[in-house]
Amino acid sequence: MNFTPTVLVGPSGVGKGTVLSTLCAQYPQIWLSVSVTTRRPRRGEINGQHYYFVDDARFDQMIAGGDLLEWATYQSARYGTPRADVDEKIRQGRAVVMELDVQGARQVMSRMSHVRTVFLAPPSWEELERRLRGRGTESEQVVQRRLATARDEMEFMDQCDHVIVHHEVASAVAELVNLIGLGSVGPPDERMEKDTHP
Ligand code: 5GP
Repeated sequence: MNFTPTVLVGPSGVGKGTVLSTLCAQYPQIWLSVSVTTRRPRRGEINGQHYYFVDDARFDQMIAGGDLLEWATYQSARYGTPRADVDEKIRQGRAVVMELDVQGARQVMSRMSHVRTVFLAPPSWEELERRLRGRGTESEQVVQRRLATARDEMEFMDQCDHVIVHHEVASAVAELVNLIGLGSVGPPDERMEKDTHP
């Protein structure tokens, strides 16, 4: 089956990571792109799983070598998508999902002929602020900077193919599953049950 690659975009703190880790745990057909970044790992983040953490020199090398499908500077760090991994997974017929900021989403939209953009929106501005603070991993200064960026990012919603309002994880995942085209397949466990009890 051929899946259209999906870009999930939305302001920092909206819960893209939570939605995507739930989605991937339930649907092994999905391949979530692992980005490279020059930002420092947060507590609990694993190199090669959450990001490839690299220094500026390595990131420069990857840009020069044409290794990145897209890249952007977000706050004071750089983030990019390794091109070869995405190409290979598309060839293998996996449902490719990329989690990007708005700048990255724009680049992918202009460089890939078939891509689906999904904007994950907070239920309200107040809720986004609460979630960003609740994460407790960033200083107040960083939270303020991310909120300022988020105001601009929210304007990108209108340019996306779909909008999902993130009220709670399960329903956001279900909506995303349908958009990606896995809705009729169902999670593997459910499939097995249906197979054994027709
Ligand atoms: P965080 O530091 O919170 O992990 O990510 C900051 C922002 O960078 C988030 O909006 C996230 O979606 C975005 N981001 C993560 N990986 C990439 C990437 O490879 N390219 C781009 N353009 N943005 C990314």
